Amino acid sequence: MGVPSVFLRTFGCNFKCAGFGMPRGETSEEANTIDPDLYTDYKTLPLVSTGCDSYASWDPRFRHLSPVLDTDAIAHAIVDSLPHKEWRDEHLVITGGEPLLGWQKQYPDLLDHPKMAGLKEITFETNGTQKLTAEFRKYLLNWSLGNKSRGRDALTFSVSAKLPCSGESWSDAICPDVVAEYEEIGTAYLKFVIATEEDLKDAERAVEEFGAGGFKGPVYIMPVGGVERVYSVNNRAVAEMAMRKGWRYSDRLQVPLFKNEWGT
Ligand code: SF4
Repeated sequence: MGVPSVFLRTFGCNFKCAGFGMPRGETSEEANTIDPDLYTDYKTLPLVSTGCDSYASWDPRFRHLSPVLDTDAIAHAIVDSLPHKEWRDEHLVITGGEPLLGWQKQYPDLLDHPKMAGLKEITFETNGTQKLTAEFRKYLLNWSLGNKSRGRDALTFSVSAKLPCSGESWSDAICPDVVAEYEEIGTAYLKFVIATEEDLKDAERAVEEFGAGGFKGPVYIMPVGGVERVYSVNNRAVAEMAMRKGWRYSDRLQVPLFKNEWGT
């Protein structure tokens, strides 16, 4: 948080997370009430206060708002967005949707592009359900450890594993073997979205299961809330839970700073 970063957001997700911000067991229809034909630019889409706050990055109804670019165009767009038009201290954050779906096949082309040579750190923001393919795992190991200006810490897996408050099932969402594999090749941490004490209990259970699977990294909890009105109700209580548990607190910096506008 606070590190200058470029976010590459890929399209598609294996989840819907329609339970966020809803009473337990209920699912949000909020994004379904938005008429995609009224929009020609994703930046003008409404924010939602329930369900997945990045619905336009996976819901097929909004696919036409995501540009389709080839690798060369993506590499140029990324480097053009850097303040000095070259890599210095900036990180690349690859997010989604879920960025470790079929896109795994495409990343080597992008990361090998000459424009990406000066990149030193990558974070994958993942829901922690997707195994790395053998080819991509080998590629990433070579990208980080095979380059003397990088190393093991150059690769981070920010694993936002989904608890029942997301509306996704435990067996689909909590995948200790997958996350243990990420930790074998880079740094990994767990990050849970929390609203209530019940969510905190679910997080405790999940941490135990991840720990039993071999996970050793840090745990963050983050308040639910894609809009300021919801976020500001939860943030202090979740910070206090983190202090009680000895876990880390993750803010949602894009909410107070940018009101969670699309593109932030
Ligand atoms: S895993 Fe993330 S991107 Fe996918 S539906 Fe859930 S919150 Fe949205």
